[in-house]
Order: sequence, then structure tokens, then C-alpha cells
Amino acid sequence: QCTLWCPTGAITEKSNINEVVKALNDPTKFVIVQTAPATRVGLGEEFGLEAGTIVEGKQVAALKKIGFDAVVDTTYSADLTIMEEASEVAHRVLKEPNKLPQFTSCCPGWVKFCEYFGSDIMEHLSSCKSPQQMLGPLIKTYYAKHKNIHPKDIVSVSIMPCTAKKYECNRPEMNAAGIMLGDKNIRDVDYVLTTRELARLIKMNNIDLTTLEDTEYDSILGEGTGAGKIFGTTGGVMEAAVRTLYWLVTKQDPPEVLLDWQAVRGLAGVKEASANVPGVGEVKVAVCSGLKNARIIMERIRNHTAPWQFVEFMACPGGCIAGGGQPRTSLPPSDEVRTLRMQNLYKLDSKRSVKRLSHTNKEVQDLYDQFLEKPLSKKAEQLLHTHYTDRSYQLTIKNK
Ligand code: SF4
Repeated sequence: QCTLWCPTGAITEKSNINEVVKALNDPTKFVIVQTAPATRVGLGEEFGLEAGTIVEGKQVAALKKIGFDAVVDTTYSADLTIMEEASEVAHRVLKEPNKLPQFTSCCPGWVKFCEYFGSDIMEHLSSCKSPQQMLGPLIKTYYAKHKNIHPKDIVSVSIMPCTAKKYECNRPEMNAAGIMLGDKNIRDVDYVLTTRELARLIKMNNIDLTTLEDTEYDSILGEGTGAGKIFGTTGGVMEAAVRTLYWLVTKQDPPEVLLDWQAVRGLAGVKEASANVPGVGEVKVAVCSGLKNARIIMERIRNHTAPWQFVEFMACPGGCIAGGGQPRTSLPPSDEVRTLRMQNLYKLDSKRSVKRLSHTNKEVQDLYDQFLEKPLSKKAEQLLHTHYTDRSYQLTIKNK
């Protein structure tokens, strides 16, 4: 096991390639894999392509060639996260302003940091799980039922740009499917491989990623909008969430400025912006990446000099495009590499043909119609939301 230095202890890297290969070789197992937004602009670098090259379809093709039974998209559950998180922020703005600002919770590095160093302001954290951990329990309940597969026979794998995601999937409370199905041995996500580990697996199988034909993700968890794709970069979650917040409150699509929200884009460690949402007024937001910046923002919340209603936090400077599991084209990722990866995620959100609003994702709409009913429903709370642990006492023990 290789343990990387991390201020929160969240980032430990243990390879799970052997366990995944074993599952792939077991004919009784249905092995399904999800891929995070940021890996599609990182993986190509391991195969000699220019930094940031989009290999979305080639990544799907490689995973199919390796033998995964289904390839689904974490971008789908990023859209779902937006449905839940924008509903939560709308509720807080209209009914519980004392719980503002709302903090995003999709970055496990940030969440653990907050559990250690921000336990006094932890009530600001959204209760939404990350997209990886939303998709996990849906695979073993909604998807399993739809495909008529026994949940026990499913092995659920994630490809992530992030070493902290390995820790996240092992948090004891990440067993919502097991609780719903009455089997505590069922985990929501079984194994996480980083982008670099996936590259190793592809090379072990003698596959040349660069020559593969683009392949589509599998239904019923394979559709992702541009809003879900920009989750992979700092500012992306905020931009996606405010687009849908606008629609939730006004029942109208957001204006052009929020579809190209420059104020929350770019590599700056702290960005501030505001959006006018009729019915709610001016929504002030901050976007923060890097834990040093998180400390500054947290201090402003504590001393009541924070004007924001919604704050996005990402542990890695630049967001998941520069996660600890991404290719080490440069270490730490240079501004040039981060910018190329970021620009190409925005390209995936700007193609004319692409949907750009999470609430227009047809497969997410089907999920609500057929299974969850509506955002923040009882079943959505059971499967898609979580709670946090005050870990500040552990710091006191260590310091004694
Ligand atoms: Fe993981 Fe970094 Fe992304 Fe957080 S910002 S989810 S630690 S890759």
C-alpha cells in the first residue's frame, strides 16, 4: 500500500486492480463500471495524447474490451446530484436561511477536512452524497431490478481521478443499498480505480486506447448533460447547480449568462459571483479550491463576514481535473495541463447538440418517475443523502 501525504488523512492509495480482475474473471459476477467526468480529459495522457484530449468514447470502448458487463456514466449521477442539491439550496434559501450558506459535499477530501477542522460549521454541508456514492446504491437497487440481476451478483467499480474516493466508498455509512435490501454485506461501491490504475489495466490487456472506435455509455444510467460533465473542474458544480436552481424556482430555463458563467470559471483559488433568480433575488456564491483557501473561507463564515448563500469547495487546486489519481504529466499538475483539461470539459458542455441542464436529463427524469418520485423524497433521502461525523476530537487526541 502506498500512502500519500494528505492533510485530512483522506487520501490513501491502495491498488484494487487485482480484486477487479478477479471479479472480471468470475462468470457468476456482473461487473459494472462508472467513469467520473474528469477521467475523460485525463486518461489519454497515459497513452501519449496531448494533455486534456477528450477520450470519452474511447474510454468506454476500452472498458468494454477489458470485459466489463456494463459501462455507465458518473455524469448521470452528477446531474442527479444537482437535482437534489439545488432542491436543498432552494429549500434553505426559502425556509431555513439560518442554515446558509450551503456547502457542497461532493468532494470527499473537503468533507473529511470539514469533519476535522470545521465541525462547528458542519451543519452548512449539503446532505447530498457525491455522484459516485449516489450511483452506487442505484446500481444495486433500481438498475438491478430493471435488468433482473440479483444485487449480490453485482460488482460495482468506479474509475475516478481521485484517491480520496477509495476512502469514501469504504465509509461505514455508504451501504444504503444493503440497508434497503436487508443485507449488510452489500456495499454501494465495491472498488475504486484511479485514472492511472485504469491506464495500467488497459495496458495489461494490450489495448491501444488511441485506435479504439468511440463507444456510447449503456442505458439506463448512461446519459449525462454538459452540466454534469463540468463537475470535473473547479466552479463546475456551482455553475450546474445554479442553472437548475433557476429552473426549480422560476420554472424557466436560465438566461445565457448562466450557461457561460465566466465569473465562476478559471483556476483562481477563490471566486465570487452572484446570480439574479426571480422569486429569490440575488444569490451570492463563492467557489473555492485547495484546502488552504478552504480555511480562509471557513474563517469568514465563522466571523460572519461571508455574504454567500452557496459555497463550492474542492480539495484539489483546480478541482478533479487535477485530482491525485490523474496522470502525472507534471507533478503537481502545471497550470498549462490543468487549463487544457478544464477547457476540454467546457467544450463537452458547449457542443450545440448537447443538453446543458441537469433537469433535462431524460434518464434522470425516468429515475424520478419510476423509482424516486421527486427530489428529496423519502427514498431519495435514504439512498442519495448522508450524514457527517465530528472528527475534531481525533485532533485533540493526536495533539496530547
Ligand atoms: Fe477528489 Fe480532488 Fe476531486 Fe476532491 S477535488 S473529489 S479530492 S479529485
